[in-house]
Amino acid sequence: MKLDAKALRYLSAEDFRVLTAVEMGSKNHEVVPTSLIAQISQLRHGGSHKILGDLAKRNLVARVKNIKCRYRYRCFDPLNKASKFIPPSRNAYAYLDDGYRLTYGGYDYLALKTFARRGSVYSVGNQIGVGKESDIYIVANEEDQQLVLKLQRLGRVSFRTIKSKRDYLQKRKSASWMYMSRLAAMKEYAFMKVLHENGFPVPTPIDLSRHCVVMELIDAFPLRQVDEVKNVGKLYSDLMDMIVRLARYGLIHGDFNEFNILIRDNGDPVLIDFPQMVSTSHANAEFYFNRDVECIRVFFKRRFGYESVLYPKFGLDSNREFDLDVQVAASGFSKKLQEELEAYQAVIEQAEDLTEEIDDEGAEEDREEEDVDEDESEDETEETETSDEVKLQEHDSQTDALVDDIKA
Ligand code: ADP
Ligand code: MG
Repeated sequence: MKLDAKALRYLSAEDFRVLTAVEMGSKNHEVVPTSLIAQISQLRHGGSHKILGDLAKRNLVARVKNIKCRYRYRCFDPLNKASKFIPPSRNAYAYLDDGYRLTYGGYDYLALKTFARRGSVYSVGNQIGVGKESDIYIVANEEDQQLVLKLQRLGRVSFRTIKSKRDYLQKRKSASWMYMSRLAAMKEYAFMKVLHENGFPVPTPIDLSRHCVVMELIDAFPLRQVDEVKNVGKLYSDLMDMIVRLARYGLIHGDFNEFNILIRDNGDPVLIDFPQMVSTSHANAEFYFNRDVECIRVFFKRRFGYESVLYPKFGLDSNREFDLDVQVAASGFSKKLQEELEAYQAVIEQAEDLTEEIDDEGAEEDREEEDVDEDESEDETEETETSDEVKLQEHDSQTDALVDDIKA
């Protein structure tokens, strides 16, 4: 997914209004009916129609036609290792209209626009990283200072799988890529901020909007690309000390590996990538702690032929003295939001083992097809908001407020 910064310059105020209307509508509609977009954007009759066509051509929104479907859920049955369809139920709802959904392109646009307005991003440069669930770009602010923009792309790989398994999430509507990407960005920002404030070597967090974080650009290479270090023993103990110090502050990185540790010229490590951090009070804390330690031990042995009998052990070396996990929760990224994201991440982990079985039924893009019920009845069910949707809407406006709180 390429970030198209050019669109920024070409969109008119009315285009922006319509795009914003699609985003607002997305908070409680997976596909936003065209009529609702017109209503929210309040342009003169027919005005939003043409604009929607233009936005779709630029891939900022995607049109979804004839959505008179009822949803049915394809669920994965772990016992039989097969997926089965659950027929439409009274809870399944129907859209009768044509509609649009926001694409990642559109969501990127809205975030960039916000950054531009706040002066944190002025221009977009090269892409420096493509993760499984993120894209990383070099950007510059108005003072021409280079920064890093990280865009979360949750659901890019296995959205279908997630959808089919969302019963396990028990968060039916909130398992959308937009919402989950936003949670991941909020979490990354909240943790980076609290770590930075407590003197950990992490990039300075600069701004947050939707699924995107702007942070300091670290002039360093990932440990993965480093073949030689001046003092291997020192780096090893610096990294183990960092794991222990994090735990003393109540935190476990959870993905402490050669990709997420950057090494400066002088040999100092910098830690990045925080969407999977957990508290040392987490039920599986010991497992995550040991996995982080093991990652470093295995890498040092393989890359540098370095082995040490000294390595930290959970509990012995990590008695907590501070409560950064509590601070993060207090800063606005609540425990409840963390749990929602964790549930998603757990499903992704499971899903990775099972993708083959589930993905054998066609391309990821076949959303429309998948959602259409074959023996679709023509009964004109009124489109109603389920209580779930109302809840999510409330929840979403709360998180909007929280983003501002976290930034404050
Ligand atoms: P992912 O979640 O996809 O693993 P990361 O945050 O780990 O994303 O970033 C991926 C890569 O982008 C890193 O390995 C690093 O090379 C680069 N990168 C990310 N953030 C920065 C930064 N602040 N400064 C320099 N490089 C960065
Ligand atoms: Mg990473």
